Amino acid sequence: MSNQRVYNFAAGPSMLPLSALERAGSEITNYRGSGMSVMEMSHRSKVFMDIFQETRDKLRRLMNIPSDYHILFLQTGASGQFSAIPLNLIGKTGKANYAVTGNFSSLACKEAARYGQISLAADMGEGNYCRIPRQEELKLDPQASYFYYCANNTVFGTEWNYVPDTGDVPLVCDMSSDILSMPVDVSKFGILYAGAQKNMAPAGLTVVIIKDGLQGHELPFTPLMMNYKTMIDKDSMYNTPPCWCIYMLGLTLDWVEENGGVAGMEKLKWQRANMLYSTLESSRLFQLHADKDSRSGMNVTFRTGSDELDAKFVQEATAAGFVNLKGHRKAGGMRASIYNAMPVEGVEKLCDFIRLFEKNN
Ligand SMILES: *Cc1c(COP(=O)(O)O)cnc(C)c1O
Repeated sequence: MSNQRVYNFAAGPSMLPLSALERAGSEITNYRGSGMSVMEMSHRSKVFMDIFQETRDKLRRLMNIPSDYHILFLQTGASGQFSAIPLNLIGKTGKANYAVTGNFSSLACKEAARYGQISLAADMGEGNYCRIPRQEELKLDPQASYFYYCANNTVFGTEWNYVPDTGDVPLVCDMSSDILSMPVDVSKFGILYAGAQKNMAPAGLTVVIIKDGLQGHELPFTPLMMNYKTMIDKDSMYNTPPCWCIYMLGLTLDWVEENGGVAGMEKLKWQRANMLYSTLESSRLFQLHADKDSRSGMNVTFRTGSDELDAKFVQEATAAGFVNLKGHRKAGGMRASIYNAMPVEGVEKLCDFIRLFEKNN
């Protein structure tokens, strides 16, 4: 292995800001005079409680989260929420409304169907998930306890460019792969959640932002660990929280703040994405998967049309220091995941590489 850092286009876990990694490295054996690593601390100690509260305050400030929303730091991944959401919310009417626009919303929908009656607001599977439905295409169910969608489809590379209007039905959103990449009006949502390993922190932390009042209506057999009320009442500390990840999230948030907050992140997001899309658009070798108005600013999916050439591209890119460009097995082709921590320079160089590959092939 070389000691050079590479441009890592992995879909997650993925790149973290270098400043956050370096800070963590400098504090790894002795956190700010405490004489121990954050990995070794009691989660109930004052020194860790300060980290916990500061991280939560920073997130509230950066995302402008209203005071009637709880911020939970949980485990079991984003996938754990596929169960927790219906367990906690579907009991109100026994029904929920799902927009299936990709891999993870499809999995979430299947899981929810175990606990209640699901109506599909949209199912984009026929076009192999190449676009996002328009507001007027959504089949809304006013009887639903909640409306569920996934803001950015990590596998297929599409992203909602609007927040659906669902009237009085609470909105639940999986933002695992585009949280902190743009300003969001949190007050429009009932629940907004994200697995941390795409844009926030190492794997092991799930951030759940939930409007007060949605908790406390769980199905009777809801496991304690999946019960929002338990976690709200115990301040995410019913059991040991993922301490190290919470600390790393705090360091990532410092970097976000230093780089213009979520508005700054949004500028960088489209700077990176537009550069890559226009390079691929002007190519005669590569095709883009997503329709133009549905393109993701975080995961860019493309292919040559030949499996052999795709494999050659991935192999040569890896050798040139652009790693993890192979597409998800369900989508094929290539995928460049360009989350917040991907430097613009990494995308510039990838675009040069793409042009060179096209010339040679
Ligand atoms: C990665 C991802 C998931 C799954 O996350 P886990 O933490 O592995 O459960 C869910 N939803 C989206 C949008 C993702 O990108």
